[in-house]
Amino acid sequence: MASPSTQYADTAVSEPGSDRDHVVVIGAGFAGLEVVKELADAPIDITLIDRNNYHKFQPLLYEVAMAGLEADDIAHNVRDIFRKQPNVQFRMGTVAAVDRERQRVQMADGAAVAYDYLVVCAGAVTHYFGVPGAEAHAFPLKNIPDAIKLRNHALRQFERFDRDPVAAGEGALTFVLVGGGPTGVEMAGALVELFSTLEGDFAHLDIQEHARVVLIEMQDELLPPYEPSLQQYTRETLEQRGVEVRTGTVVEHVEGTGVQLASGDWVPTQTLVWAAGVRAHPLADTLDTPQQGNGAVVVERTLSLPDDDRVYVVGDMAAAEDADGTPYPGVAQVAMQQGRHAAHQILALRDGQERTAFTYRNLGQMATIGRNAAVGELPGGIKLKGVTAWVLWVFIHIAKIVGFRNRASAFVNWMYNYFTYQRSARLILDMPSASAPRASALVNGSAEATPQDAEEATDASPAPAPTAQAA
Ligand SMILES: Cc1cc2nc3c(=O)[nH]c(=O)nc-3n(C[C@H](O)[C@H](O)[C@H](O)COP(=O)(O)OP(=O)(O)OC[C@H]3O[C@@H](n4cnc5c(N)ncnc54)[C@H](O)[C@@H]3O)c2cc1C
Repeated sequence: MASPSTQYADTAVSEPGSDRDHVVVIGAGFAGLEVVKELADAPIDITLIDRNNYHKFQPLLYEVAMAGLEADDIAHNVRDIFRKQPNVQFRMGTVAAVDRERQRVQMADGAAVAYDYLVVCAGAVTHYFGVPGAEAHAFPLKNIPDAIKLRNHALRQFERFDRDPVAAGEGALTFVLVGGGPTGVEMAGALVELFSTLEGDFAHLDIQEHARVVLIEMQDELLPPYEPSLQQYTRETLEQRGVEVRTGTVVEHVEGTGVQLASGDWVPTQTLVWAAGVRAHPLADTLDTPQQGNGAVVVERTLSLPDDDRVYVVGDMAAAEDADGTPYPGVAQVAMQQGRHAAHQILALRDGQERTAFTYRNLGQMATIGRNAAVGELPGGIKLKGVTAWVLWVFIHIAKIVGFRNRASAFVNWMYNYFTYQRSARLILDMPSASAPRASALVNGSAEATPQDAEEATDASPAPAPTAQAA
């Protein structure tokens, strides 16, 4: 691999305007926000870089995709989050590489940002495990454009079916979800609820007869990390609500018209959602350091790189382990706690103190199955299921969303949906596609694509190109 220093000609190198140490944080996700907050009172300068000007609450992306919440309920402007923290500057832009030799972060636009300490937390990207056709035809769910594209597509399928059920084709209203982890389970439950709302919108169509949700999981049970009685409850609840659960099932290949299973079954569908796996963000490949098979960066127990105590990798990009060698799960709490830990290590290093090993404090895990049903495993061996777990899930998620306005708005939307049995955000909002910058403007003949468009195009995750999808 060519060294980043030879690949990029810097148009400008940003240095902080003071003699204080400069910490650069890549990614304003769960980990990045915690790093910055933890350094609020330190006599250092911080530059926080993100390709978007907002932080997003990924655990509720499925609610945006399933028309339960608006996108701006789960996203918050980064500049607003740090409005009252004078030692941080936000820079919106895409990081292309890290040049450890010259202690610089290379931006996609050719500029560079110098650092004394670096925290890399750019998260993960969808991993298709080489399943033929998956990347081309499946819908990923990693960011807000993904969620809106999926919502547009799902609602449009019903509009097509309404216009002409025959032309809409076999599988038009079959939604296949690959991956029986929390995202697949939560989305399956939400889809069934969306179907009931749409029964009111399309009263003349027999939606119950045509609409299907098929949830596919390679392992023998849903929610693999949960205790068996909670897995069983999850499966039974989904099945009672009409979801076809197919565990122990491997996807062989995906086409625009359906999915081929290793069992020999062919499931006709025009909507396949890939919730089956992630790998570390490809920025990890530029760090020139050992990585695991899924791209995650091998870090020491302090969370720094093995040969560089000024560079920390945390959250979904890090292959961190506890004292027994057990890898930490890719969840928000791990990312947040690791972010805080990295901040403390930087301060310790700066002050000539000894650094310490990261230890994860497990606060438990929860997943909702839909209205009045959830499962949870809490500290102290407490297991919850049903309505109590669901109420707790709602309140925990409301509390964790960043920003008072977002919390209030999500709460109002959820309460409205709960009491009216609606999914209120049933809007088809077309966006210019990433692969066709400013498509709408170009169609109107009013604009040409600009370099900024090209950078914006790199910000979105690879756009799915399901042949059946004409978003
Ligand atoms: C659909 C879904 C549902 C989930 N549900 C749950 C759940 O219920 N509970 C749970 O605990 N966890 C859940 N997770 C996992 C959780 O969201 C992640 O573990 C967590 O977000 C990891 O935090 P992070 O800071 O490492 O990365 P992220 O939160 O993903 O943040 C990465 C940031 O880096 C930015 N970025 C990426 N590339 C670049 C670049 N090149 N230049 C500049 N900026 C860049 C991104 O814009 C983003 O803001 C879910 C994840 C998904 C996708």
